[in-house]
Amino acid sequence: MNKNTKIFIVEDELIAAESLTMDLKKLGYQVVGTADSHQKAFKSINETKPDLVLMDIQLKGNDNGINIASELSKNSKIPIIYLTAYGDEKTLNKALETSPYGYLVKPYKIEDLQSTINVALNKFQHISKVEITLAEHQQKLNYLATNDSITQLPNQLSLVENFNGILEYFYQKSNFKGLAKKIKEEQENISQIIPILYVSLDRFPLIRDDLGHDVANFLLKGIAKRLQNSVYLDTFIARLEGDEFALILPPIKTKQVATDLAKILLEKVNKPFMYKNQEIFIDSSIGISFYPLQGEQINQLLRNAQKAIEQIRQIGGNQYQIYSPALHSHNPKQIVLESQLHHALENNEFEIYYQPKVNIKTGKIIGSEALLRWKNKEQGLIAPSVFIPLAEETGLIESIGEWVLETACNQTKLLQKRGFTNLSVSVNLSIRQFNKEDLPQKLTKILSITAFNPNFLDLELTESILISNPSLSQRRLNMLKSLGMKISIDDFGTGYSSLSYIQNFQFDTLKIDRCFVKDIDINHKNAAITKSLIQMSHQLKLHVVAEGVEKESELAFLQQNNCDYFQGYLFSRPIPFNEFEMLLQNKNK
Ligand code: C2E
Ligand code: CA
Ligand code: CA
Repeated sequence: MNKNTKIFIVEDELIAAESLTMDLKKLGYQVVGTADSHQKAFKSINETKPDLVLMDIQLKGNDNGINIASELSKNSKIPIIYLTAYGDEKTLNKALETSPYGYLVKPYKIEDLQSTINVALNKFQHISKVEITLAEHQQKLNYLATNDSITQLPNQLSLVENFNGILEYFYQKSNFKGLAKKIKEEQENISQIIPILYVSLDRFPLIRDDLGHDVANFLLKGIAKRLQNSVYLDTFIARLEGDEFALILPPIKTKQVATDLAKILLEKVNKPFMYKNQEIFIDSSIGISFYPLQGEQINQLLRNAQKAIEQIRQIGGNQYQIYSPALHSHNPKQIVLESQLHHALENNEFEIYYQPKVNIKTGKIIGSEALLRWKNKEQGLIAPSVFIPLAEETGLIESIGEWVLETACNQTKLLQKRGFTNLSVSVNLSIRQFNKEDLPQKLTKILSITAFNPNFLDLELTESILISNPSLSQRRLNMLKSLGMKISIDDFGTGYSSLSYIQNFQFDTLKIDRCFVKDIDINHKNAAITKSLIQMSHQLKLHVVAEGVEKESELAFLQQNNCDYFQGYLFSRPIPFNEFEMLLQNKNK
């Protein structure tokens, strides 16, 4: 028996407590404290941390030793021996529920006190040992359940269970805004994304059937090693089913980091293996999805990365591919189109057409709207309504949009230099561009490279872009305005069409959509709306542009009602730069 054993006494009768203390000391125990009530007991036991508690069941008033014991057992493991003068069955049953280590009936003999304590301490020691062994077993079982026995990597179950933990880890390590919700709230802050790389061998079932399971397992182990040796320590690698592996990378800012790594991984993984002097060649493919862009749940992210692999397989495998919603559509045409869109910029397949914007009073061209055209080698001219949504979905709109801005400024600058000094240009901005945090910097850079006066650059935004995040938009607009640019609200009439609401935003021009302009001379409703829109805009000191004017009669109506500018087929369709310059020479000189 350990003479240093610390014992605590809960006993409401002072004399009983004192005699018990003396007995214990006689037996060589240390009495670290006594208490006569629930509150005192709880506090001192937590402070003195005894090895054993002698607990009187019946305490003064409503106090009860059993309640103290069950509360103690919630946050600590201390063996308890109950002291009781008499025991009715109900009370003893209740005491039993708290798994006590012994009972001592008062009055007790000192030998009984000694043996009851001994038994309790032995029992406690034994149970503690069993619990530790159980925990070890549990750990082993967990390991088997969450690790793959061939590669020793975590398995799919482990990946699924730990995904949130991994996000949290990245979050703490790099200040990653790990909560998808938060990211969605501040779309401009999608500056960090987490890539999920799904690696899969292209013909694994064939290899296994031809060469047997030993070779297959050898390859799986080898690939696991190669993957582990090719990535940062922080990367989480799991083996999924069959020949599939998943890698979760630390947060990155651009997708290119992930595609660069995919390239390297393919090179390293696809080197031939030597098995018993025999060379084995393998090909693998990598599908990529990004948290939270393509899903917030790991299962969804894996599914999407897998879709990208299926797509690669259709074109022969041995590549990497970022998941895109177009893959979902299973529309081969769209899939081809999208993969071509990825290369359209570098292949110089884009061109800007310009549609003149005309002053209704003078009939002179005051500027133009830059409208993007894609000259696809196979399919010819593709309309923006087809490829702009695709570019938006895939994020390509960011680089394409930058190209449009720079080219429009460059070409318009050229025309300004050739004598059309006050010519302005309007460029359409997509929601993704507008919400990008670095838009002001990008614009400033483009303006300085092209030496373009920002007063002649007009950015066209739709009402829905502004309304999707009003406070952010307001800040954005103020920033752009302070740089000297002009802002137009595009397609007014197709969305919420609330002038009273959007007047809270800083902008210069309202563009009335073609649906209101159409047949304005005979459609009374359209006429009434357009008329009041023009009046209200003027009261708010806004300019008004009418879009899609096709008929003389429509133009006449707009003229009568003091509309400022118009665009439309009546004057000119969108035309290539050279033709636009000729048109300017004809009409404005
Ligand atoms: P939008 O900004 O409303 O552009 C006006 C559209 O109306 C253009 O279609 C133009 O060709 C067409 N249009 C002009 N006058 C008439 C007319 O009298 N009658 C008819 N029926 N249509 C007329 P387009 O060029 O096909 O562009 C479609 C949309 O694609 C644009 O609508 C714009 O939202 C988007 N877009 C075009 N270029 C870009 C770009 O560089 N960036 C972004 N983000 N979006 C662009
Ligand atoms: Ca527009
Ligand atoms: Ca428009």
